Amino acid sequence: ETTPDLVVVGSGLFGLTIAERAASQLDKKVLIIERRPHIGGNAYSEFDEETGIEVHKYGTHLFHTSNEKVWDYVRKFTDFTDYKHKVFGKYKGQVYSLPMNLALINQFFGKSHTPDEARALIAEQASEFKTEEAQNLEEKAISLIGRPLYEAFIKGYTAKQWEKDPKELSPDIITRLPVRYTFDNRYFNDKYEGLPVDGYTAWLERMADHPNITVMLDTDFFTVVDDYKGKVPIVYTGPVDEYFGYSAGKLSWRTVDLESEILDVDDYQGTGVVNANDPEVPFTRELEFKHLHPERADRYKPGKTVVVREYSRFAQEGDEPYYPINTADNREKILVYRDLAKKEPMVLFGGRLGTYKYLDMHMAIASALTMFENKLRPHFEDGTPLT
Ligand code: FAD
Repeated sequence: ETTPDLVVVGSGLFGLTIAERAASQLDKKVLIIERRPHIGGNAYSEFDEETGIEVHKYGTHLFHTSNEKVWDYVRKFTDFTDYKHKVFGKYKGQVYSLPMNLALINQFFGKSHTPDEARALIAEQASEFKTEEAQNLEEKAISLIGRPLYEAFIKGYTAKQWEKDPKELSPDIITRLPVRYTFDNRYFNDKYEGLPVDGYTAWLERMADHPNITVMLDTDFFTVVDDYKGKVPIVYTGPVDEYFGYSAGKLSWRTVDLESEILDVDDYQGTGVVNANDPEVPFTRELEFKHLHPERADRYKPGKTVVVREYSRFAQEGDEPYYPINTADNREKILVYRDLAKKEPMVLFGGRLGTYKYLDMHMAIASALTMFENKLRPHFEDGTPLT
C-alpha cells in the first residue's frame, strides 16, 4: 500500500471535486475516506427496484446554477435534463402555486388583480409593522408580505420547520420574502437548471472513476486519523466541531426525517413537491420522485409511485446534520472553530459540514474549485504551505 499524496475526508460534491481535480490535473494519488456505505454525500440517490423510480435518499436534490465555470465542470461527468422545478403548497383544502406570485394572490383573495393592484394590496397589508422595528420572525414576515399571506404560507410551515412559534424566533432568520407580481412560478432564477440524465449516483461515480483515486467506504476518518494526520495534506469535509473534539461546544443542526412509502397509484399528487402549510399536518412536505423525470415514464412500473414525507426537527446525537442554525450561540462557536481550523497544519476544511454553512451543490463545487486553484495547486506545484 502506497501513501497517498492527498487524503480527502468525505465524498460529497465538495470532496469529490477536490479529489477529481487533484487526480486529473496534478496527477496526484488521492485517498477518499467516507464513513457511509456509499459515495456522494447527500446528493446520493438510488433507483427503487420495485418501481424503477430514482429516489433521492437525503431529500430532493435540484441542480441549478448561474456559474459558468461550475456548469462547464459538471457537464464533464453528466448531461442534464431540461427539468424546471416548481413547488406547490396546500392550505385549508386548496393547492396554491409557489413561490408567492400573482396566481397565488388571485386565488387566495378570490379575485383577479393586475400586478399594480396586487402590489398595492400587499404593501397596504405589510404596513402593520416596520421591518426595521420587527421584534421577532412573525413581525418581520408581516412587515414584508402582510398578515393574511404570512398566516397562510409562512406561519405553519415555519413553526414546523423550527418546532417553535415564529413569535419566539429571531427576525434575523429571514431577510426577504420574495413576492412575484407575475405568473412566473419557476422556483429557481438561475440560468442553468436540470437533473442528471442517468441519475445522481452515476454522475458522482464518474467523478471518482480515475486510476489515481481510491475510495475507502464505511470508514470513519477518526478511526484512521493517526495514519494520515500531519503526514499528508488532508481536505476535511466532515463536521468541524467533531474534528476538534467539540472543544468549543457542539454546533446545533436541524435534521429531517424522511418517511418513504410505495403507493398503489400511478400518480399521487401530479407534481414533485407539495408543501404542507396547515399547522395541524405534522410533515412539512410531500415528495413524489417520478415527477422529477417525466422523460422516464416508459421505464416506470405502472400503477405504482414512491412518496416521501419530510418531518423537520432539531438534530440529536447520531442524527444526520442537515441545516446549520443561525443563532448567536452557534455564531460564537463557529468563530472559535474557524480560528482553530486556520491554524491546523496541513489540513484544509471545506464543504457544508466543514464550514457550518448551508451550501447548494453548485456552491459546494464552486468553493472546491476555488480551494483547488488557490491552495492545492500552488502547494503541489510550488510547495507553498497549506493554510
Ligand atoms: P455532504 O454532501 O454532506 O458530504 C459530506 C460527506 O462527508 C458525507 O458523505 C459524510 O458521510 C462524510 N463524512 C463526514 N464526516 C466524516 C468522517 N468523520 N469520516 C468519513 N466521512 C465523513 N443542493 C442543491 O444544489 N439542491 C438541492 O435541492 C439540495 N437539497 C438538499 C437537501 C438537504 C436535506 C440537504 C441536507 C442538502 C441539500 N443540498 C442541495 C446540498 C447538497 O446535498 C450537499 O450538501 C452540498 O452539495 C454540499 O456537499 P458537501 O460535500 O459539502 O457535503
